[in-house]
Amino acid sequence: MGPSKAVLSDDYLMQNYKVTTCTRKYPHDWAQCPCGHKGERASRRPLSIGYSAIGCNYAKQRLPCPRGEQCPYAHNLFEYYLHPQRFRTELCQYGTSCKRSVCFFAHTLEQMRPLDPSLPPPETCCSSSSSSWFL
Ligand SMILES: [Zn+2]
Ligand SMILES: [Zn+2]
Ligand SMILES: [Zn+2]
Repeated sequence: MGPSKAVLSDDYLMQNYKVTTCTRKYPHDWAQCPCGHKGERASRRPLSIGYSAIGCNYAKQRLPCPRGEQCPYAHNLFEYYLHPQRFRTELCQYGTSCKRSVCFFAHTLEQMRPLDPSLPPPETCCSSSSSSWFL
């Protein structure tokens, strides 16, 4: 009920987090809300569009993407890392002491998911200079 202390399942994160359009009619903190909002940078397109977990070259340069909603590449960090092809395929730098309410990474080796072999390796890392393309 209350704002978001509930732990969201991995399935929910991959399929619905920031995809479902928020129905709250009053102002609230989007970052604490699992839904997507009009104009929110983190909001995700439904996976049914068929985009893959590869960063869109336009989005990376913060340019409007001419392919729009139908673009086959990820438009932000959330589309990239919450994609079932990439979610929890890297170990979290904080491991089991991670305090993020939503973390894209694995906290134990058991939690690690296999990276789709057809994907390029991660192009963004928290420590790299290219980490700015989506936030
Ligand atoms: Zn909301
Ligand atoms: Zn695009
Ligand atoms: Zn973490």
